[in-house]
Amino acid sequence: MATDAFGRRIDYLRISITDRCNLRCVYCMPQEGVSWKPYDEILTFEEIERFAVVAAQEGISRIRLTGGEPLVRKGVIDHVRRLCDVTGLERIALTTNATLLSQCAKDLRDAGLSRVNVSLDSLDSEVYSRVTRGGRLADVLAGIEAAFEVGFDPVKLNVVVVRSLGQDLMQFARMTFERPLHVRFIEYMPIGGGAEGSVASGGSCGMDAEGFHWTRDDYVPSSEILESLATNGAAEGLGELMPVARDEAPGGWGPARYYRFPKALGTIGVISPRSHHFCGECNRLRLTADGKLRACLFSDEEADMREVLRHGSPEDIRALIMQALSTKPESHSMRVGTVRQMSQIGG
Ligand code: SAM
Ligand code: SF4
Repeated sequence: MATDAFGRRIDYLRISITDRCNLRCVYCMPQEGVSWKPYDEILTFEEIERFAVVAAQEGISRIRLTGGEPLVRKGVIDHVRRLCDVTGLERIALTTNATLLSQCAKDLRDAGLSRVNVSLDSLDSEVYSRVTRGGRLADVLAGIEAAFEVGFDPVKLNVVVVRSLGQDLMQFARMTFERPLHVRFIEYMPIGGGAEGSVASGGSCGMDAEGFHWTRDDYVPSSEILESLATNGAAEGLGELMPVARDEAPGGWGPARYYRFPKALGTIGVISPRSHHFCGECNRLRLTADGKLRACLFSDEEADMREVLRHGSPEDIRALIMQALSTKPESHSMRVGTVRQMSQIGG
């Protein structure tokens, strides 16, 4: 089992299978001028699978596919099927904006995918369309419906909370009474914008021509999210929002802390990379679509795997994975901005 220099067991890998996306969420990607990596710079599925075989031998047991939007890449279903056959991999999961999920949920399930995280920041179709710059809420709701129908378990929602978007968080909390859905509120992170420029500009993470910037004012700490849900939930008669024990939490160990209203079928989680960072428990590596292995979301230090995946031996791949692991920092430094955007890292 691979451990890093600080004794953390590393068993989880996020793989971004594409940098492309059919949406343009304001906090993730600029509206215009995104330059996609040329196809020959993107890992083929075969190269990703070579990586996965060696990573599994080194103790990776769980993989999450992400992007960009993973479902826009042709061949993803067969890729899932082949990953499910890799010895040592126990679970393959997906993070998706779910706009295309209703069309392929059954095939993904049949291919062996077991769990799905859907990103959805508002249940108001106008706000949703504004946040995603053109996404249709109805498509996502159909995707969630299909996820339950075909039996993904668990189904989680990822909601990035951004103050100026004015999201109604109680609408999400009410959904946990309708079905066993696990809604996770994520603190808005200052990713992208170009690390040096953004640090130098005093904490503003420049994003796009329309002037959407990460600012401290838009950041809502988890403590505030929980307090507002607890207060509003009690006022609506939903009861007291109580912590869920770690061993009962959906998906077990992970960065979220979970809570539940007494009669709810699902849970409410918070993920607090800024206010409560979970570096001491971090168990993950990230592989970008162009083959860079990142040991920390917030660190721009990367190992370039592409050449060894194309021309090297399994031993070369293994050595580079170990080298990347040795650079995993003990904790992130709360920096503002990274050279890559979130869509290029995969969340
Ligand atoms: N396109 C897929 C989706 O949206 O689920 C997968 C890729 S997306 C980059 C992965 C996750 O990162 C999503 O849940 C998204 O909301 C989250 N994300 C993107 N930018 C973020 C930011 N600045 N702060 C916090 N989460 C962010
Ligand atoms: Fe696309 Fe996901 Fe980024 Fe939204 S968060 S722009 S859906 S990659």
